[in-house]
Amino acid sequence: MKRIAVVGASLAGVRAAQELRAQGYDGGIVLIGEEAHLPYDRPPLSKAFLAGTAARESLELLGAGDLASLALDFRLGVRATALDPSNRRVPLSDGGSVHADGVVIATGGRARTLPGFEGAHTLRTVDDALALRAALVPGVRVAVVGAGFIGAEVASTCRSLGLDVVVLEALPLPLASVLGSELAAVCARLHLDHGTDLRCGVRVSHCSAAGVHLADGSLVPADVVVTGVGMTPETGWLADSGLRVGNGVHTDAGLVTELPQVVAIGDVAHYHVDGAGRRHEHWTNASEQAPVAVANLLAGRTSRTYTPSGYVWSDQYAGTLQLAGHPRPDDALSFVDGDPSSSSFVATWQRDGSTVGVFALNNAKLFNRLRRQALRRPAVV
Ligand SMILES: Cc1cc2nc3c(=O)[nH]c(=O)nc-3n(C[C@H](O)[C@H](O)[C@H](O)COP(=O)(O)OP(=O)(O)OC[C@H]3O[C@@H](n4cnc5c(N)ncnc54)[C@H](O)[C@@H]3O)c2cc1C
Repeated sequence: MKRIAVVGASLAGVRAAQELRAQGYDGGIVLIGEEAHLPYDRPPLSKAFLAGTAARESLELLGAGDLASLALDFRLGVRATALDPSNRRVPLSDGGSVHADGVVIATGGRARTLPGFEGAHTLRTVDDALALRAALVPGVRVAVVGAGFIGAEVASTCRSLGLDVVVLEALPLPLASVLGSELAAVCARLHLDHGTDLRCGVRVSHCSAAGVHLADGSLVPADVVVTGVGMTPETGWLADSGLRVGNGVHTDAGLVTELPQVVAIGDVAHYHVDGAGRRHEHWTNASEQAPVAVANLLAGRTSRTYTPSGYVWSDQYAGTLQLAGHPRPDDALSFVDGDPSSSSFVATWQRDGSTVGVFALNNAKLFNRLRRQALRRPAVV
């Protein structure tokens, strides 16, 4: 292949470019990114960067040395508007196009929005984070809609800034669908222990300058409203490509699409194993998929398949939560160190006599040991 286009200049796109070079590819790599910025890291956007304790430079995914050694042809501030496989072309929003023998789709997703919440903040990009940070002036009351990972981290950061925060969550407990009710109760406790007004089982209607209006007609007063209700995979540009899209770009177990010269990785990749489709929205997944997708792209066929580690971390208040594996709600949870009322514990999920997931609050050492020992062959849902 003489030239490979990587569409999406964020974590997955960067990891793909790095892997291409690491696996000996010395042709051209064009990195196309809709955002005008050089690739940057997103996790700090809801944590230290939002709090104002991490500098903008610390977000950069590529240092000067990487930029020189990777020899990337950047096209930043332009969107890929389509994929034209028969002519091996990626048309761009500036009227130009990139001719490429291979394509890595790494377009991630955009923050989901809620109807009626047009004036609210969302948090996906560094520009979103800067806008939210500017609004978090002393004395403002913040309402966060959604107590998932990002909503919880925003609430936590706002509390660290001394702001009054209310979190409005539709589920009976935060993150219950991911962690199950016992660990979800721990997440709820973190909010309450740190002075956040967590309200679960709440249906929101819309927001206005007065705050968030609930479906029962009541008002939750707020000066700043943030919605953290998930993301939507960025696939619109592929509508006429002939590729199968729908909740992401569909691939086989090796992240290869119907076209052997087109692979997808990161938050946008919807890969299939044994007929079941999966998509992950976590940092480690984007990194771990790159070597597999790139190997298959360069081989021109699926020679490797992807096995997810299912690793996720989240920093909330004084706690670091870590999860690995793929537990299901009906798996048996047991506490192997500490208990759910303590500030540090480790729990595992068992299924058919095997450990299928590990969770820790503030115990990275034991978490990592168990993760290595017990999840050598990560189980998949
Ligand atoms: C605020 C925040 C905090 C997070 N914290 C954590 C955490 O603590 N732990 C964790 O495990 N994960 C965390 N994540 C998730 C993690 O950051 C994502 O999984 C990761 O960024 C996915 O990388 P990606 O490259 O697949 O997608 P993205 O990061 O979404 O990047 C996709 C890029 O493609 C660009 N793009 C889209 N369409 C086009 C197009 N048509 N043409 C050109 N460019 C396009 C987009 O502008 C974007 O820059 C967090 C995410 C956010 C937003």
